[in-house]
Formats: sequence, structure tokens, C-alpha cells
Amino acid sequence: MKSYDVVIIGGGHNGLVCACYLAKAGLKVCVVERQEFVGGAAISREVWPGFTISVASYWMSMLQPKIMMDLDLVENGVEVISVPPSFHPFESGKSIVYWSDEKRLVEELAQFSAKDAANYAKFNAHMMAVIPYIRRLLWETPIDPTTGKIKDIAKAMSIAWRMRDIGAKVYDIWDLLTLSAYDYLKRWFESDEVLTAFGSYASGSAGLISPKTQGSAYVLARPYLRDNTTSVGGGGLIKGGMGSISEALLRVANASGVEVITGQSVRKVDIKDGRAVGVELVNGDYIAANTVVSNAGAKMTYFDLIGREHLTEEVQGQVERHRTKSIAFKINLACSALPRWTAYDERRLNEPNPGSVTIAENSDELEEAFHSAQNGEMSAKPYLWITTPSAFDSTVAPEGKHVVQIMGGHVPYTLNGREWDEASKKEMLDIVLKQICRYAPGFDREVLHAQILTPKDIEEMFAMVDGHVHHGEMSLDQVFFRRPIQHYADYRTPIKSMYMCGAACHPGGGVNGVPGHNAAREIIKDLGKRFPSAARP
Ligand SMILES: Cc1cc2nc3c(=O)[nH]c(=O)nc-3n(C[C@H](O)[C@H](O)[C@H](O)COP(=O)(O)OP(=O)(O)OC[C@H]3O[C@@H](n4cnc5c(N)ncnc54)[C@H](O)[C@@H]3O)c2cc1C
Repeated sequence: MKSYDVVIIGGGHNGLVCACYLAKAGLKVCVVERQEFVGGAAISREVWPGFTISVASYWMSMLQPKIMMDLDLVENGVEVISVPPSFHPFESGKSIVYWSDEKRLVEELAQFSAKDAANYAKFNAHMMAVIPYIRRLLWETPIDPTTGKIKDIAKAMSIAWRMRDIGAKVYDIWDLLTLSAYDYLKRWFESDEVLTAFGSYASGSAGLISPKTQGSAYVLARPYLRDNTTSVGGGGLIKGGMGSISEALLRVANASGVEVITGQSVRKVDIKDGRAVGVELVNGDYIAANTVVSNAGAKMTYFDLIGREHLTEEVQGQVERHRTKSIAFKINLACSALPRWTAYDERRLNEPNPGSVTIAENSDELEEAFHSAQNGEMSAKPYLWITTPSAFDSTVAPEGKHVVQIMGGHVPYTLNGREWDEASKKEMLDIVLKQICRYAPGFDREVLHAQILTPKDIEEMFAMVDGHVHHGEMSLDQVFFRRPIQHYADYRTPIKSMYMCGAACHPGGGVNGVPGHNAAREIIKDLGKRFPSAARP
């Protein structure tokens, strides 16, 4: 029988990050992954001969520099491709180019409103003032403010001490967590184009939210969460696709002595006297371990891996109520040519292609799209975020051919009165191509192959309940000390020596690595070892 200090269920990027830190602290670690390959939703696959696709996540904007540096990810193969600015076209022929140079971006906004142009610097300064506190919170282990125990009171006070300079920014952070993206942006902006372009990110961020849903403003902070000024550089497309991040993590894990088993599912955590002592695999194998960690989402971890018989009714109720509904979809295309955007002025950018393209014509269309998906219909005009990695990375497509990856905002998990089958998926593809052709006529004729992932496909392919790309909604009721559930937000569970390390935990989803890092820190603390790096950046 194999025996380890720690067994990790799932080799998503967070499971691997957790494994690397644990192994570097001197622990004997095993990772068991159900797929034939590691990475979870951060993978690159050759879906069609010669075409390498970032099947799920496709844009690196959050992987934390601390983790990249601690684990030498650049040295192990993570290469960020610096791409031109992204752009947002409108049917009028106007567009917004998201220049990193503030002056140039302000000129873009002036096409729509002098007030919006004048206020952009204030908006940006406001976000930059709020963001350092949110970045700091990423690295905190959520406290349980309700136990009354001295140690928990001390933890709460130590967080308060670290955040003592926050002052009146508390109100701004509160607004960011509670207002809709639209209302938050309206403090500075008035034109519908600017509100739509800036707010539309909320439509593609998964979950059941639109820019006008209360609590969606937090999404506006996500592009700011990574410090792009460190020696490991900024975010963007990853050479070879997002799987390069997971492959680099696998290399570091292997070099640190982690054993990684792929193509095997864990059926159950073995629990004796309220303590996790190992895992049973679906193939009947057993792995003994002093500590068990789950990279799976909350519902799978609590109900499938632990089992209801080990949980109080209160805990079961909380996990049942944990909201995981999603209306996000992904379409990956192999193409003979890239979209030619009518509103894109190549000469102005001095580049043949924009870094990425977001599509949302106006706030009414976005809202209608959201309501269609909420009501079980495919939206006729969904939000789209389009990347064209082959324009910048010759390794992902045969010469002269292209890869186009589309993250979309608006299809339901369950269609009204019919199934997600070949016919309904073809209908969805046609809708998406029609939406792109509004801004890039003729693009539909360039499509060679299509991979269509509805929320149901995302659930099946990536073991993400309801297809929620963040392992659960990231609204105020499900963040910090409520993520994934109250009393167990500190990466621990009601089962002794059993932890969670994935996106279901603080600070949530995205390829950021922080849940894996923070979980490792708590496990190492409980085992009386030294964390192999500074605990916080
Ligand atoms: C379509 C899509 C697009 C996205 N786009 C982006 C993007 O562009 N940028 C970004 O930053 N984020 C993006 N995300 C979100 C991001 O990819 C996820 O939030 C993140 O990858 C979650 O990482 P994780 O390691 O916590 O979990 P996962 O990646 O979900 O990994 C969990 C792992 O556990 C395994 N597992 C589960 N149960 C078992 C079991 N019983 N036995 C063995 N193994 C098991 C799974 O197979 C999986 O490999 C996207 C996600 C999706 C799905």
C-alpha cells in the first residue's frame, strides 16, 4: 500500500501549486488527477492535428508574481507573449482601443463623451488606490469571526492590524463588493459605449451576473489584481497556451519529489474517527496519507469525496446553498484566416491584429442576453471575448492557419424544452459566428473546425459543478469568510487533517494559484513545518 504525508485530490493548477510548496517544505506528496494530464482548466491540447488550443482558460491576467518567482515558473517554461492592446468595436465603426498609455486611452473615450474622457484618470486613480488592499487580502487566510475563541480573535486583530491604513477606503471596497458594475462605473462615466465596454467584463466572468446585477462591480477589480511591474512581467497570452503554466508546475513538482498519478479518479476520502487517513481510487487502489487535500469544488468535496454521513445538517445545508449556476461558454475554432474587424485601424496600432477583442454593442443588448440565458434560452446577441493566439504564437497552428478562442457570456446550463445536442450546439455556433460577423463580415467562411463547450460540457470535461469556471459564484455572500462555507473558509474542513486548496476557496477562481499557496501555508503550519518562502508578498 502506498503511503504519503499528503495526498492531493486533483492536479488542477492550484493542486499543483499546493503540492510544490508542500514538497519544498519537506513533505512526501502525491497528486491524483482523474484526467490523463494535469492542469484542470489550465490546459493546452492538440484538439485537431497541428492546432493547440487553450481549451478552457485562455488569458493569463492573475497568476501571482510571488508564486511565479517562488516556484521558478519562468525558468520552467512559462513565457508570456506581450500582445498589442485589446479593442472593442461598435457597429457605428467606432471602437475603443485599450491603450496602456492613459493619454491615448483618454483620446479613445473622447469619441463618446468629453466628461468620460476627463474622468478616466480619476477612475483609474480610484482603482489604483483601492486595489492594494484587495491584493493584500488575497494572501490572508479568512478568519471565523464567530467562534469567540482567543486564537480567532487574535487572527482577526492581526488582519485588522495589517490593514490598519485602509481608512475611508473601506467604503469604496464595500461599494466594489455590493454595487452593480454599471452603477459603480456611473460615478465617472455617462456614455453607454464606455459603460458597456468597461462593464461588459462582468458578462464574461461566469456566474449568473450581468453588469447591472447587484454585486457585480467586484469584477472590475479583477484585471488590477496582478502586479505587472515585477521581474516576471505582465499578463497576456502564454506561449503554447495556458497548459504551459501547468506543465511548468508539473516540472517543479516532479523535481521537488511529488508523485503525480494521472488518469485515476478518487472515489472517496477514507475517514476514521472523524480524521482523513487516505483515499480510495475508482480502480480500487488505496493511498494512505496523514493529510488529504481536495482541489475539487465544494459540492464534490463535501458530498462525493467526504460524504453526507460525515457532515452535520448545518454543513450539508450550507454546501447545498453554495451557488454554482453559470451561463458562460467557450468556443474554440481552427480557421483558415483571422477575423478582419471593420472598425480596426491597423495603421493606428501599427499591428495587423489586436491583442484581444470584446463584443457587446450596448447595455440593453447585454441585459437582454443575460435575461435570455437566465430564462433557459440561448441569447441571440451574446457577450464575447475573443483571442487569436496564432496571430502572436507560431507554435499553436500550422503555418497560414489560425486558432480563435471565444469565451462567451450567455447560454443556459439547461435549455428550455430541449437538450444540448449536436443540433442545439450548431445553433449556438451559428449565433456566435453571426455576432462576430456584425463586426468582421465573412469570418464565418474561415472556420475549419469548432469545439463547442456549453456550461454542461464544462461541467463534464472539467468536473466543475454546473460548469462554474470559478467553482462557485464570487458574490459578497460567497467570498472571504463565506468561501466556500462559513466556519470552514480557512482551507480546513469539518474532517480533521482534510483541507481544500482550489478555486472554491478564498480568493476564488481564475488561474491565480493563491488558493493552492494559502492552503499549503495552513497545512504546513498545522504540521509544524516552515513555509518554504515568505508567507505573504
Ligand atoms: C471555459 C473557461 C475559461 C476560463 N478562462 C479563464 C481565463 O482566461 N483566465 C483565468 O485566469 N481563468 C479562467 N478560467 C478560470 C480558471 O481556469 C479556473 O478558475 C481555475 O483553473 C481553477 O483552478 P483549480 O486548480 O482551482 O481547479 P481545476 O482547474 O478545476 O482543477 C481541479 C482538478 O481536480 C480534478 N478532480 C476533480 N475531482 C477529482 C477526483 N475525484 N479525482 C481526481 N481528480 C479530480 C479535476 O479533473 C481537475 O483537474 C476559465 C475557466 C473555464 C472553464
